[in-house]
Amino acid sequence: MYDVIVVGARCAGAASALLLARAGRRVLLLDRARFPSDTLSTLYIHQPGLARLDRWGLLGEVLATGAPLLTRLSLNFPGARLTGPAPALGAINGGCAPRRYALDRLLVEAAVRTGAEFRPRTTVVDLHWEDGKVTGVRHGTQRGSTTLARAHLVVGADGRNSTVARLADAPVVRQDPRGTRAYYSYWSGIPDHGLQMYTGQGMGAGCIPTQDGLTLVSVQVSRALPADDDRQRTYREMARRSSAELDRRLAEGKQEDRLYCCSDLPNFFRQPHGPGWALVGDAAHNKDPTPGRGITDAFIQAEMLAERLDIPLDDTQQVDAALAKYAQQLREEFTPAYESALVTARLDPAAYIRHLIDNQHDPAFTERFFRAFAGLN
Ligand SMILES: Cc1cc2nc3c(=O)[nH]c(=O)nc-3n(C[C@H](O)[C@H](O)[C@H](O)COP(=O)(O)OP(=O)(O)OC[C@H]3O[C@@H](n4cnc5c(N)ncnc54)[C@H](O)[C@@H]3O)c2cc1C
Repeated sequence: MYDVIVVGARCAGAASALLLARAGRRVLLLDRARFPSDTLSTLYIHQPGLARLDRWGLLGEVLATGAPLLTRLSLNFPGARLTGPAPALGAINGGCAPRRYALDRLLVEAAVRTGAEFRPRTTVVDLHWEDGKVTGVRHGTQRGSTTLARAHLVVGADGRNSTVARLADAPVVRQDPRGTRAYYSYWSGIPDHGLQMYTGQGMGAGCIPTQDGLTLVSVQVSRALPADDDRQRTYREMARRSSAELDRRLAEGKQEDRLYCCSDLPNFFRQPHGPGWALVGDAAHNKDPTPGRGITDAFIQAEMLAERLDIPLDDTQQVDAALAKYAQQLREEFTPAYESALVTARLDPAAYIRHLIDNQHDPAFTERFFRAFAGLN
């Protein structure tokens, strides 16, 4: 019998397991993936995400991966460029983009060091119910049978296509149309000028320095534009159309990896709790990745959930009340960033470009813009 079973062991799940184990809970952490392993992501963590890693004692390990602190920001639009130092949050004066195989492994290792039990390559296939309440999960074994693990609470941190949400019948309480398709790859030979983002009409791109001297170059394309089957051509062409400067940089650099593509980028909030179960991270709430907020928000949600669960977990009434408050806080705190992501994902700078052109040389305006971009208010 565990206190909590966490399904999914990346940003939301491993962070939740770490925090719950630190609070003295008996935690089982499961993931169907092998670790360390990569997952689709353009990697960027904003200052509030790094502040959480710092608080959890992991920022040093993250920076030791070689991913640089990105202390300069350049946000480019047709006819306007906002550039300058990244805003600071305490001592953290930039964002960072570690590879996910490194970040997620660090989080899992920290959870295990704290006492969580971790089982990789373990797929949850069913929830176990007693008297209308989830009391465990059934997961596959290597021999093809299933095993039951029981807990007071099952946390689904299993991503936007969450199995726990599906099996618990978690209602979607808000949904908006998909905005973009995403493409990215890793490049050498691109000088590190910090985080650089380019927004064109219907397309956008980003240069995100990561580990090993490589730069992740991302391209987002509005779904209003027709999809081309030749994805590599789309990637390169949309980068070219996003910015002549970016196009020149790519011509001097070298694409070192295959192209990664993702068009399954839904926007929604699910009801993140029910009797004996809760959702965290993308399972609870997913938004277009153009503003790069999912990792940071997964950390914030993991902290919110762990704080709410500082109660006796065998007291069903207290747990239900705590999860209802968690749900309310999640909806209230993340709705502004969600709505802002919907606007960003329209990739329609024509709607606000005049304002940017008029204010681009005002340092106070740039700082306010950068703070909003980083989720600092
Ligand atoms: C193309 C793209 C680019 C992005 N770029 C950024 C960015 O630059 N910055 C940013 O902050 N965010 C970005 N995001 C979003 C970010 O990657 C996610 O918000 C973040 O990974 C959410 O973490 P999570 O732990 O909730 O879910 P996930 O990272 O999806 O992890 C879920 C885990 O659950 C496991 N799992 C699923 N089902 C089961 C099951 N049945 N049994 C056991 N395990 C299971 C999976 O194997 C997986 O490891 C991007 C997303 C995409 C798609």
